[in-house]
Order: sequence, then C-alpha cells, then structure tokens
Amino acid sequence: MNVSQRAAAIEPSATLEIAAKAAAMRAQGRDVLSFSAGEPDFPTPPPICRAAMEAIEKGHTKYTATAGLPEVRQALAKYLGARKGVAIDPACVLLTAGVKSGVYLALLACLDPGEEVLGIAPYWVTYPWAVKIAGGHYRAVAPGPGMRPDLAALRAALTPRTRALLINSPNNPSGVVYTAEEMASLVQFCAEHDLWLLSDEIYEDLVFGGLKHVSPLSVGGDAEERVILLSGFSKSYCMTGWRAGYIVAPKRLAGHLSDVLSHISGNITTPTQHAILEAIHSGGPYLASMQREFAPRRDAMVRGLRSLPGVRCPDPDGAFYVLADFSAHLGGRWKDDAALALAFLEEADVAAVPGAAFGAPKHVRFSYATPVANIEEGMRRLQRFFARQQ
Ligand code: PLP
Repeated sequence: MNVSQRAAAIEPSATLEIAAKAAAMRAQGRDVLSFSAGEPDFPTPPPICRAAMEAIEKGHTKYTATAGLPEVRQALAKYLGARKGVAIDPACVLLTAGVKSGVYLALLACLDPGEEVLGIAPYWVTYPWAVKIAGGHYRAVAPGPGMRPDLAALRAALTPRTRALLINSPNNPSGVVYTAEEMASLVQFCAEHDLWLLSDEIYEDLVFGGLKHVSPLSVGGDAEERVILLSGFSKSYCMTGWRAGYIVAPKRLAGHLSDVLSHISGNITTPTQHAILEAIHSGGPYLASMQREFAPRRDAMVRGLRSLPGVRCPDPDGAFYVLADFSAHLGGRWKDDAALALAFLEEADVAAVPGAAFGAPKHVRFSYATPVANIEEGMRRLQRFFARQQ
C-alpha cells in the first residue's frame, strides 16, 4: 500500500524537531535551556479556564454551527471591530482550531491546484507546507532592508498564476511590525493584481516600544473585499492548547469557508468557544500583565545576543522572538545555521531554531517566552561556547 505523494513530501516542523531533541536530552538528565518555544510560558488565565469548565458542567458539549456559536461570532465581531476601527459583520467571522488550521482552510478556499501564493521572507515555517498541502506553490520573496516588505521584489515575483499574498506582522521569526503605510501599500499591491491578502495577526497584542500593530483591514482601500484576517487567542491569552483561532473573511468567501470546514472538522470544541467569550470579556488585565513581562525579556535576549562575538541582531518590535545573524561564524567549522544550532544544543545545552526553515539562512531564532534568569544563563552558556572555540 502506498503513502500518498502529498503526505510523503511533507517534512515535520523545524521548530518542533528542535524542541523534541531538547526534550529527549532532558529526559537523559541534561539541563537544556530551551529558546525554541512558540508559546508563552504563562498559564491560561483562571477565569477563562473556569468558563470552559462551567460550560461542560452545564452540558455545552454538543455540536454547534460549523462557524461557531452565534453569540461568540457576534462578540468577536464587536471586539475586533473596535480594535481594527472597522465594522465587522458577524457573518464574516468563523472560528478555527487555531490559526494553523485557519491558514490551511483559507488556502483551500482561495487556491486551485498549481496556483501560487506570494510570501515575504522570513516567514513562519508552516506557510510553504500549508500551501503545498492545499495544492499550491509558495513563492518566498526576499525582503528589503530591515526585513521589511519590498514591493518591487513582490512585483517581480508575480506570475499569471499568483492568487494571494500571505503576510505576518508582527513577524515570526524577525519581530518586524509593518507600518500603516506598508500595510496600505500591500493592500494597494493586491488590489492592482487582484490578489487575496491573507494576514496572519496572531502576535497582534505583542508589540513593544509604543508601536501599534496595524491590520491591513484598517487601512482603507478595498481591504474589506480582499483581506482574510487570521488570528486567535493562542498567544495573547496563553491558550495555545485550546485551539482558539478565527478568520474574518470578505463576505463572498465566508460561506465557502464554512462549507469547506463543515466537511473537515465542523465546529471547534464547544467549551473552547465559551472560553473565547470569557477571554473577550475579562482577559484585558491578563493581557496587559503579560505584555509587561515580555519587555524586559526582550531586552535581556537582545543584550545577551549582542554580547556574543560577531553576532548581529536588530531590536525586534513585536512577537517574542529575536532573529540573530550568525553569518560571521559560518562556512568553517559550522557549515550552516542548522549545524550551528545543533552545536548550541549538543555542546552548550541551549536549544534555538535554525533560520533556514524560516527563509532566513545564516540566522538562528531565539524565543524569549521564558524568564529573564533563563535568558541570562543561556547567553552565558553561549558566551562560554564561543570562548571555547578560540
Ligand atoms: N502563525 C504564526 C506566525 C505563528 O508563529 C504560530 C505559532 O507559532 C501560529 C500562527 C499558530 O497559531 P495557533 O497556535 O493559533 O495555531
């Protein structure tokens, strides 16, 4: 019996691979410090957990409409409308099992086989694979200076089969946050070439230094007609395991998304929907305290990485990652970023993710979703690692 070509062509996520190797080393008694995590280390706020438990106790354990309970979609439309400064019709909101499945669902609804999706490097590791599973081709476009969108490069990458642009701001792995002007120019670019604009905003609440996240939905033009907003509660409310994501889609697409989802999984779990309602109503203070925790962690990570010889890293403006440039150390003992990240793990007990999987070769991504003390100890280990090489 055959394994399908589609399944055989997929490689596991690079981030999960490093985390698994670190876990295996820990199981052997090694004190590995992990900077590979893609999730906040805080617990889900207690009122959110209680809301789900109460929902179960009250018997809210059956199917709901595929797109979600009407009261959750309405609350979400109101909450998002206030944040994005646009009116959002609850009929355009659909709950998905995390952003991950939202990305895939949106691609299934926008792409025919062989069609192309443009992305901007560096990009989240899942995008090329999600496009591939959906039958399309992901075309990563090199960024401009500062890892920011380069419209000329995007234009040069267009083909007659290009159907969508997939963006992510705040960005994993670079931490870059696109400005309102950049967002407006990306909406305009998509309008000129009749593309869907898929906008993954999962890190929208994790922006530092007084900057603000801007959604392409908020910048006018014909955004309402072409922007497919993908976001959720995983990172903002420490709900990674709940699978609490959503899509806000243009009206003409929303019904199709629900039709496709109805044959894949149906609704997201009903208790999670009640947890989402609670997060909308009472999650604000938890979000603010998490934001306060992340700022000193970011500073400690940037300071530590800059203390390493020859390492360059810009200040990230959002998300919880630092993408550091290790090119000064590559080409000799370590042929590439994967070899270097493996050496960090095996020789310094520090887990971080090689950049190549994100379209950022010669870089290594460090997550600072871990306490400052761990970050400082990890950076000391890397200082000793490089000192040993001399
Ligand atoms: N989008 C980006 C850019 C991410 O980095 C991640 C997780 O690392 C996700 C989506 C996944 O979100 P979720 O857990 O809601 O599926």
